[in-house]
Amino acid sequence: MNCRHCGTPLTHTFLDLGFAPPSNAYLRAQDLSRPETTYPLKVKVCAHCWLVQTEDYADAGDLFTADYAYFSSTSSTWLAHARHYAERMIAELGLTAQSHVIEVASNDGYLLKNFVAAGIPCLGIEPTAGTAAAAEQLGIPVLREFFGEALGKRLAGEGRQADLIAGNNVYAHVPDINDFTRGLGAALKPEGVITLEFPHLMRLIEQAQFDTVYHEHFSYLSLHAVGRIFAAAGLRVWKVEELPTHGGSLRVFGCHAGAQRETDASVAALLQEETRSGLQRLETYLAFQPRAERIKDDLLVFLIEQKRAGKKVAAYGAAAKGNTLLNYAGVKTDLLPFVCDAASSKQGKYLPGSHLPIVPPSVLWEHKPDLVLILPWNLAAEVVEQQGSIRDWGGRFVAAVPRLEVWT
Ligand SMILES: [Zn+2]
Repeated sequence: MNCRHCGTPLTHTFLDLGFAPPSNAYLRAQDLSRPETTYPLKVKVCAHCWLVQTEDYADAGDLFTADYAYFSSTSSTWLAHARHYAERMIAELGLTAQSHVIEVASNDGYLLKNFVAAGIPCLGIEPTAGTAAAAEQLGIPVLREFFGEALGKRLAGEGRQADLIAGNNVYAHVPDINDFTRGLGAALKPEGVITLEFPHLMRLIEQAQFDTVYHEHFSYLSLHAVGRIFAAAGLRVWKVEELPTHGGSLRVFGCHAGAQRETDASVAALLQEETRSGLQRLETYLAFQPRAERIKDDLLVFLIEQKRAGKKVAAYGAAAKGNTLLNYAGVKTDLLPFVCDAASSKQGKYLPGSHLPIVPPSVLWEHKPDLVLILPWNLAAEVVEQQGSIRDWGGRFVAAVPRLEVWT
């Protein structure tokens, strides 16, 4: 396989998690007696441009099925994040009823509804039918398509270029990142602004967040790599911000390479920090696998010890990163009998691979587990706040990443 950005042959493995089913392929009861397709989950690093990328096995059509269960609006933290972003962009870019905002991967309208409320014309692009329909009910026009250069050019031809193109947690999920980036350029007005949010590879490595690796997540991005990809598409990163979301994300601000905006000092500062943390050295990448193995081993030992001690353990949060962790560790229902999730679209289904049944959070009160393993560690504070009354019966929360920890 060659690098998806620069075409250099990929000879170095960053992480090998064995085989796993697509992490959002939630199962119905009748699926449990059928064979389940798994794909190798291996991540390579390009020693030329440092793009870290999932080895290519499954195509996007297999992975983003029509009943894709993730609705952004089920996380209150994420909704607040989206609202603050919209308010700020409207103010800073001076967006009005004459402006046009495009969001790529607009999901259920969690973000664009804020622009609709402010009277700013917008367009969502979302290939997943269920979430697109939910956005349309909020009054958001949605194109049910995958975004790329062809669609970007078509929008430009129709006079629908944007003053602002937002892409929150889509950039890392794009199989052809060069084509997608050229599309951003095509759909952007000459002085328009692109903002992209994605988990920062530097934080992934620092905090051993190997469970954020899954097939749908094609790229693991540094500012260094994104700067190169932008430049190849005639774009420029002119500002960057670090965000706490997803364990440490970047929000990059882009524009056309020749646009009037000056490049902010934040870009050079973060590039330097990445260099200092070793992102331009191969050894940094090759040292990651043993850390993932240690976390996996610690979790397994812990769950087996709890089982032998007669303790009840449950999981919370039927998120993609939980699937990566549980499938890598080979955890099944004998060690974790169920997982709670507040999203009604997931309840009644089963996690792919591990086959943990997904139940409403109220089941915690029936079952009264001694320990609750929070799988989406990025939402841990929210879960602890909402479900903190497990302490009434002496229940405690547990985290597995970046290290096994029981919270008292
Ligand atoms: Zn490369």
